[in-house]
Amino acid sequence: MSVLRLAIPSPLRRPFDYLPPRGMNSAEIGSLQTGIRLRVPFGRREVTGYLLAVCSESAMPMSALKPALEVLDQVPLIDPQLLKLCHWAADYYHHPLGEVYNTLFPKRLREGRQTQAPGTPGWRLTARGKGLPGEALPKSPRQAQAISMLRQEEHAIEIPAFRSSGISAAVLRNLQAKGLIEPCTINKHLQEPVINPGLKLNAEQETVLNAVTAAGEGFCCHLLEGVTGSGKTEIYLQLIGDCLRRGRQALVLVPEIGLTPQTLTRFQQRFEANIAVLHSALSDAQRYLAWEAARSGTAQIVIGTRSAIFTPLATPGLIIVDEEHDSSYKQQDRFRYSARDVAVKRAQIHGCPILLGSATPSLESIQNVLAGRYRHLQLTRRTSSGGMPDLRALDVRRQKLQGGLSGDLIAAIEDTLGLGQQALLFLNRRGYAPTLQCHDCGWVAECQACDARLTIHRRRRRLRCHHCGGSNTLPGQCPQCHSERLVSAGLGTEQTEDFLRSHFAGWPIFRVDSDSMQSKDAMQALAEEINKGEPCILLGTQMLTKGHHFPGVSLVAVIDADALLFSTDFRGEERMAQLLTQVAGRAGRAEIPGRVLLQTHYPDHPTLIAMMSTSYAQQARTLLKLRQETGMPPAGQLVVLRTDCPNAEYGEQFLQSLRERSAPRLPDGARLIGPLPSPMQRRAGKYRCQLLLTASSRGAAQAAASLLVANAEELPTRHGLKWSIDIDPQDVF
Ligand code: ADP
Ligand code: ZN
Ligand code: ZN
Repeated sequence: MSVLRLAIPSPLRRPFDYLPPRGMNSAEIGSLQTGIRLRVPFGRREVTGYLLAVCSESAMPMSALKPALEVLDQVPLIDPQLLKLCHWAADYYHHPLGEVYNTLFPKRLREGRQTQAPGTPGWRLTARGKGLPGEALPKSPRQAQAISMLRQEEHAIEIPAFRSSGISAAVLRNLQAKGLIEPCTINKHLQEPVINPGLKLNAEQETVLNAVTAAGEGFCCHLLEGVTGSGKTEIYLQLIGDCLRRGRQALVLVPEIGLTPQTLTRFQQRFEANIAVLHSALSDAQRYLAWEAARSGTAQIVIGTRSAIFTPLATPGLIIVDEEHDSSYKQQDRFRYSARDVAVKRAQIHGCPILLGSATPSLESIQNVLAGRYRHLQLTRRTSSGGMPDLRALDVRRQKLQGGLSGDLIAAIEDTLGLGQQALLFLNRRGYAPTLQCHDCGWVAECQACDARLTIHRRRRRLRCHHCGGSNTLPGQCPQCHSERLVSAGLGTEQTEDFLRSHFAGWPIFRVDSDSMQSKDAMQALAEEINKGEPCILLGTQMLTKGHHFPGVSLVAVIDADALLFSTDFRGEERMAQLLTQVAGRAGRAEIPGRVLLQTHYPDHPTLIAMMSTSYAQQARTLLKLRQETGMPPAGQLVVLRTDCPNAEYGEQFLQSLRERSAPRLPDGARLIGPLPSPMQRRAGKYRCQLLLTASSRGAAQAAASLLVANAEELPTRHGLKWSIDIDPQDVF
């Protein structure tokens, strides 16, 4: 008797057993390969499952097993190395294996459909079409034209070529209905990529490139710590060039926002190759095509955001993770993986080199360098003569602020524009103001569903919750005392923009935040406009700080540096140092020397002084020492188990029982803290609570996490409680 053991996408962390499909003989069953997809009944639904093993027995009685419905693949679509990675990730992150499998596949394959031969869709003549007399179809000139185009062309024609000749889809469908043409996919020959010449490297770059090359084609993890504008991207491009020359594919990860058209353009200019781009704005069909191109090897370069780390590759040769410190590499819901860490594991499994690059590397990566696990490469100088910008605090105590700007800052902007240069103002809060208050009774507008205030968005006349997305119209009077004296408190980008427009009337002003940049081409259009180099003011949130290259910017100002100073998270200072260094890095990237002004009420704050007087590299090493004292990551291991429940008390009760059950068997070196309410306890109508696990070693953290998960699965989940585990979480306090 044979039993098929499957991974099924479901929250249950265990495999499921099925009987082979009806009518399958034992030779056929014996030839089933692990990793293939099968269609199976699951509860009342039919789902796609993935074969883990063919077994001879089951823990379930045979009579309780259902037969699988259909074998979908003869051979697995995913190579064994990637399957191995998937199993590693499910284990390490304690996530259900079936759901991890699901992340490997684009939607159509998850839904059980078949792959399409890679290529672009097009049309070709049928046998009947080929036999059609020359002067047929006189009544339909468009149809005749399509036929004659196909006759002239040896093979088939891509759809866009018809379109540009004025032949519509309807014309083609009519010809298909007459049995004259049929759809097909056109395989562009796998062309040798053309690698255009790169820049002549400077001495530092040369050293870095040689070090990576000398380490060979096998697994090695390099951390490239290079100040902003030091030519990291040029190193990536040259390494990718070498990789393509060896006939291998390169996978490049970029942060969500960093996937700017600018980066892509640089890649396209260097390589006349098939570059598959994977990011969140693709349609399912586009995503599938890019995935298939990567899997089949027709795409020589794959560039993508977080989830692209799970893209199958026919001939992997190099992995690059740009801005490796970026928090967007950590998925914050469902399958909570770190794409950077998965990338390192993937390179190890494939036996290929990986390069992590950043001006502000994460403490995790620096720690790995110090421990000898990663090789350290450095670029300490900018390629331009502008040099590193000068950072200075602007004391705003007792100063009059207009739109959040002090007189000194306004003067600095005036000077910059006067010199024909650009100014970039950073304010990490969108909307008009974070608080709406009644001046008569003190009422404050709060979200109904979250423990949070509503942000005023004046342009759209709405109050919005930045946590659950809920929104209301802006009230005309106080709901409590009906006073009309409603006032705003605090500062957002809309408010600063209003001031700039009145004070700097006539100068171009660009606001860049997720409200103003909703369309996906908006950022590209803006970057093009700014790169014309005309004097202007840029005002934006974090969106503006990532990876963009604006050569005309000579002044950068942080409007509210204090907002960065008082974070309660254990990564707060690391994040601040990264952010300030990255923001500052936007200044003076070309020949103009840059300066950076930080508006603050605490010019003597030690953190701020450290930011201004020491390099990121030094600060990072100081922060690492602090983490060693507190046992926080990367010095120690951290895991968090969270609950999310409509009932205010049950989450805490659940975690308390979990703690009591787990405590006696906790491995040495592991410690539980909590349950504690989350910093914002109520969000989108759910009460959130957490249990922290700290451990002195990875082994202890993993053993303790397994114990917690096993115990949590046995506890009853009443009142709609949901729990999740987060290994190496980003934020906890
Ligand atoms: P990073 O990725 O470290 O921010 P980039 O690779 O974008 O730096 O380089 C910054 C600028 O310097 C770019 O305009 C790039 O074209 C230029 N650049 C990089 N390397 C060289 C070089 N060896 N010679 C001249 N210019 C260079
Ligand atoms: Zn009131
Ligand atoms: Zn809310």
